[in-house]
Amino acid sequence: MKMDEKQISEIVKNVINSMAGEQKTTAAASNYKGVFATMTEALEAVNQAYKKYRSYSVAQREQMIQKIRELTLNEAEELAKLGVSETGMGRVSDKIIKHQLVANKTPGTEDLKPGVMTGDSGLTLVEMAPYGVIGSITPSTNPSETVICNSIGMIAAGNGVVFNPHPNACKTANYAVDLVNRAIVAAGGPENLVVSVEKPTMDTSKEMMNSPIVRMLVATGGPGVVRTLLSSGKKAIGAGAGNPPVIVDETADIKKAARDIVAGASFDNNLPCIAEKECFAVDSIASQLIASMQEAGAYLLKGKEIDALVKLALIEKDGKYSINKNWVGKDAGRFLKELGIQSDARLIICETDALHPFVQVEMMMPILAVVRVADIDEAIEKAVAAEHGNRHSAHIHSKNVDHLTRFAREIETTIFVKNAPSYAGIGAGGEGYTTFTIAGPTGEGLTATHSFTRQRRCVMVDGLHIV
Ligand code: NAD
Repeated sequence: MKMDEKQISEIVKNVINSMAGEQKTTAAASNYKGVFATMTEALEAVNQAYKKYRSYSVAQREQMIQKIRELTLNEAEELAKLGVSETGMGRVSDKIIKHQLVANKTPGTEDLKPGVMTGDSGLTLVEMAPYGVIGSITPSTNPSETVICNSIGMIAAGNGVVFNPHPNACKTANYAVDLVNRAIVAAGGPENLVVSVEKPTMDTSKEMMNSPIVRMLVATGGPGVVRTLLSSGKKAIGAGAGNPPVIVDETADIKKAARDIVAGASFDNNLPCIAEKECFAVDSIASQLIASMQEAGAYLLKGKEIDALVKLALIEKDGKYSINKNWVGKDAGRFLKELGIQSDARLIICETDALHPFVQVEMMMPILAVVRVADIDEAIEKAVAAEHGNRHSAHIHSKNVDHLTRFAREIETTIFVKNAPSYAGIGAGGEGYTTFTIAGPTGEGLTATHSFTRQRRCVMVDGLHIV
């Protein structure tokens, strides 16, 4: 068979394109698998993929998930570096740990547990069925972690997924979409079961939310996005903001409490929504705690230095403070350098009163205010107020069972960690699985495969009941 020049050049072009497609780590976002120029195309593609996926067995789903875990572990460093370089937030070494946590501890198909009722009238089964295509909005603080974690749970439940990632972190999120697609296809699954858009905007988000193809919505982010999704008229899971307090009382192992708090509050520069964001220390041990925090790697700021840090990290308008987004997730050393201090401390600490903006505002910066309180009563009262009713996360260091129990009852958070760094609450050094979508407002708690299912009942009367 003879080929003309046009045919040859077409073949060469295809080979070059497919090679470029394989060099995923350096390819432009537009070459990413599952990432489309428009939301309309993304929705159509995932709809087709979901229809194919309906015929796949649970065992096949699990093979895909195993492959996602494998690729996530292989590419954890790449994902971490991309996340830090695109967003300018967080720490590469901590983001590697976050990806390893996602790969190793996000539940898969084993979380699908049927219900059974048998009796004189026969047999009734309750099975966990997929919703269909789920629309997921993801944050800038854990861009690839959330995409991979949500993908595992949603796919394990038999769904397809369309993401509208945070615009400031969309390259990282879309790299993760590409990774998930590579894994699915390598394990024999359909193309485009997980999709996204190259340039997410409020318009693409709106199109996604309003599309009849999308049967369930999941929002991971601040209060704005959760409110928007909950007013969509669709089934929605909202994973919103927190401002987790940590209490240290006089019965705690103070040195360990200090080490744990410095580790938790500085992890990924305090980006995690579960991280300790203000500390209430009972007066009799407060000085010892602060000294132990310094020993554990924190830098103590005092007096005018604290005021200078407020000016840097926060924006004041009409007496109200909000975060200066340019400083979210930055290293402690960068703040200190700006204040003329040379230090490689992981965390900045300072003593303030309970109404100080460092206590009241969800900072997401490696800055922890320590508030001196008279006793556990005052600690609980002020910690509950600082959490602002988010009911997200709270932590305590104490050996007094009554104190532990009272604080847990009064603060009513989704996650409550005792005598450990905050990240123990998502399975890092604590029992239990992990998630990066913690649904406080809508009550699913730490989401997992079962959260992304519909319960369906199947009834057989007078048969299959064998006793
Ligand atoms: P963000 O709220 O700025 O953005 C989150 C996502 O929502 C982004 O994709 C953004 O584009 C989108 N968005 C924002 N407002 C929207 C609106 N009105 N309509 C539609 N989409 C909208 O949050 P961020 O800065 O990326 O992340 C930090 C926040 O997320 C913190 O408040 C943190 O506590 C929270 N968070 C919560 C969890 C959790 O599991 N509960 C996990 C991570 C982060």
